[in-house]
Amino acid sequence: MTRGVVYAEPGARPAVEEITLDPPGKQEVQVRVEACGVCHTDLHVIEANGWGMPFPILLGHEGAGVVEEVGEGVTGVAPGDRVVIAWRAPCGDSCRACKRGDPRRCSNNLRARRRVHRASNGDLLTPVLRCGAYADRAIVHEACAVKVPDALPAEQACLLACGFSTGAGAALWATPVRDGCSVAVIGCGGVGLAVIQGARLAGAAQIIAVDVVPEKLELAHGLGATHVVDASGGDSVTQVRALTDGVDYAFSAITSPSGLVDAIRMCAYAGTATLVGVPPSGPPLDIDLDRDLFGPKVSIAVTHGGDTIPQEDFPFLAQAALDGKLDLDRFVTRTIALEDVPQALDDLHTPTGVRTVAVLE
Ligand SMILES: [Zn+2]
Ligand SMILES: [Zn+2]
Repeated sequence: MTRGVVYAEPGARPAVEEITLDPPGKQEVQVRVEACGVCHTDLHVIEANGWGMPFPILLGHEGAGVVEEVGEGVTGVAPGDRVVIAWRAPCGDSCRACKRGDPRRCSNNLRARRRVHRASNGDLLTPVLRCGAYADRAIVHEACAVKVPDALPAEQACLLACGFSTGAGAALWATPVRDGCSVAVIGCGGVGLAVIQGARLAGAAQIIAVDVVPEKLELAHGLGATHVVDASGGDSVTQVRALTDGVDYAFSAITSPSGLVDAIRMCAYAGTATLVGVPPSGPPLDIDLDRDLFGPKVSIAVTHGGDTIPQEDFPFLAQAALDGKLDLDRFVTRTIALEDVPQALDDLHTPTGVRTVAVLE
């Protein structure tokens, strides 16, 4: 029996149910999923009533597994290959960004046709973010099946699919941190900690972690932060500026708009403030154009998923992890069974630890 976590309709609780798959088509790959991380974006999809995707929805977008079968024309992977399932796959030639030679800003990701059904009634499922990886099997475009070394355990490899790449990619590729520069990271959840790891790999001289939870700051320190700022103990902008007189790069890895405002105000002259992660829509930013932006010449950037080119960047990150330059192991707080995913999604409201990963058997 093949199982999947299905979000059936607005307001419904996601549930594990039986699914069926059509065979992979042209340039499509069937993956036996081994592990899939519990990422906040799936909760966002649930709370945003599908986030514009047609129901029913097959959840899970941080998966890794082994190629089981390939469709016509697939040349990049073969059965038996360990792959990370990417939700980004730049089109290469049809969107504006790719046409101007900037696939990191591609707006037209390649995708497989929808191939997965609910066993109960045959309804076609929409795989969330083109993945649908809370399932024993997934069918994805070959560009989304990114080969990584077998030596990297699946429960670590899957983190490259979303959370880790989003954070590390923000510092490595979206707004590349230069060697020897100073960095502030606001929010030390999984994505913020990955920004810290990316900044360290990029050679940042100072990495200041900002959070209100002492345990997270301790973890941040262990993962590469050179300084920590407890934002519960007074204005974090003042504290960061006291340490550095402003940073070259500030990353907001929290959903509150105050994170980006603080990031802007932490920047030194000509610094860059980067928004990482999915914010809620809400109040406008409280910034003064002259005092906060033009005067100090601060640039604001937004990244989607770290602006990765998965086929290049995931193998790079995987090798860096195997070489001991990244610490993916400490990002896996606990592993759970597929049956526990609906509860784990609920638990994201009061997160503990870094990442929960569903391991499939
Ligand atoms: Zn494109
Ligand atoms: Zn995600």
